Amino acid sequence: MLKKTITLIEGDGVGPEVTGAARRIIEASGAPVEWEICLAGAKVFKMGDSSGVPEETINSIKRNKVALKGPLETPVGFGEKSANVTIRKLFETYANVRPVREIPGIQTPFSGRHIDMVIVRENVEDLYAGIEYMQTPGVAQGLKIITRKGCEKIARYAFELARAEGRKLVHCATKSNIMKLTEGLLKKTFEEVAKDYPEIEAKHIIIDNCAHQLVIKPEAFDVIVTTNLNGDIISDLASGLVGGLGIAPGSNIGDEVAIFEAVHGSAPDIAGKGIVNPTAVILSSVLMLRHMGLFDYANKIEEALVYTLGETNIKTSDLDPKNPVSTTEFTDEVIKNLGKKAKDWEIRSCKPIKMPVVDKNPDMVKVENRRVVGADIFIESDLDANALGKSLDEISLDSTLSLKMISNRGVQVYPQIADQKPDVVDHWRCRFTLDDVKGCLQDIDLASLMAKIGTAHRWMHVEKLKEFDGHSGFTKAQGEN
Ligand code: NAP
Repeated sequence: MLKKTITLIEGDGVGPEVTGAARRIIEASGAPVEWEICLAGAKVFKMGDSSGVPEETINSIKRNKVALKGPLETPVGFGEKSANVTIRKLFETYANVRPVREIPGIQTPFSGRHIDMVIVRENVEDLYAGIEYMQTPGVAQGLKIITRKGCEKIARYAFELARAEGRKLVHCATKSNIMKLTEGLLKKTFEEVAKDYPEIEAKHIIIDNCAHQLVIKPEAFDVIVTTNLNGDIISDLASGLVGGLGIAPGSNIGDEVAIFEAVHGSAPDIAGKGIVNPTAVILSSVLMLRHMGLFDYANKIEEALVYTLGETNIKTSDLDPKNPVSTTEFTDEVIKNLGKKAKDWEIRSCKPIKMPVVDKNPDMVKVENRRVVGADIFIESDLDANALGKSLDEISLDSTLSLKMISNRGVQVYPQIADQKPDVVDHWRCRFTLDDVKGCLQDIDLASLMAKIGTAHRWMHVEKLKEFDGHSGFTKAQGEN
């Protein structure tokens, strides 16, 4: 059989030990693969490459389309960017997939509950877009970017994964009750996409309740799809339910490229000691072989690993601190057990996942009508709310816009609501709306108002208030009517 080439990035800290173990097991299984060993992470930063990912590594991943990756550190003082995020963004691996399944022989407070779920985390958007500003010396702002295209891709991926694995339920976990437009966009898109998968039950759950239910009733979950930050947190929580970081596998899936890696990092405290648990990266390799269509080899390795954990007393120190074996001894045992069948373990149905087809062209969501109904002008000021409000009322007297309200940290402070006295800072959102309620704000009118405000106050940011097909494209402040 023609061998398939995999890009192997050994990574930092415990990376070479765990990827080395996975490589030995894959080779012992007879899987028809060969390796292209590439660098990324700390060694590359130290060589003076501030991206942490050299051109040769990028080209290798492009060519092979599949990579097995050890954890990468971002050493302070050598480069500012995370090599992980660079790889993720470069190859648009939009789905971070983390299976969480109870393994026989790994005792946890949840043993016997038959936990078996997959968390599908959106991997490139949300607060991870890294767009942050100091708006005033004491007020930082980060932009949470959620797109309809990103939501559609991740929602479809979650349903396709459920279909491929014969799973029956997909939860979408968001904070749409608070972040109605951003988190709400995933909820809305998920509900639309769900109609194309009538055989799969689709449920929405608020993310904090999801965290609660994951601890109270983890066996009730099958697939969870969620935004990037939510997914980051709940997937670590979920891996803790079944035995922790040493056994938590993951993959980063894009249209062209898939990168497989353990959830854990470089664990510098145990690196080089020969004691790290390679299970997480071995399970990540199993996911990789399935992705490559090498199902028999994947199943053989999974059975041998589960057999070793469930039916021998051979475990690394994180799972058996009293009587541990080394990383190499554990790996040797898994190799010895290749071909054995694990008790109480069923290999999941694993058809190839049909990747969602999403138009490669830039996503331009078209609307029939759009209107700019006002603008939020953000001002840094030492004045109090009333003084600032009165000043802006005066400044806007002969404008087409009037000051509707001022909010501070999201709460309306002008006109003041009853006896409320919110804690304020020097960062004010001043909402101006058009006097003509049916009109559309002209740039020249906005520019003229801003120029006048600029003579009296320090403004640092402007956001137009838009309406798309009659739907408001902005949220209200706390207390705003
Ligand atoms: P970590 O490397 O995941 O390790 C946290 C702790 O968990 C370790 O100190 C070790 O704890 C235990 N542990 C993790 N993996 C284990 C394994 N396979 N076997 C046994 N024990 C294991 O997290 P961190 O210390 O926060 O991060 C270290 C570095 O890794 C950072 O530079 C971070 O940026 C990077 N990182 C990279 C990735 C990635 O490349 N995808 C992901 C996460 C973090 P004890 O031995 O003390 O129990």
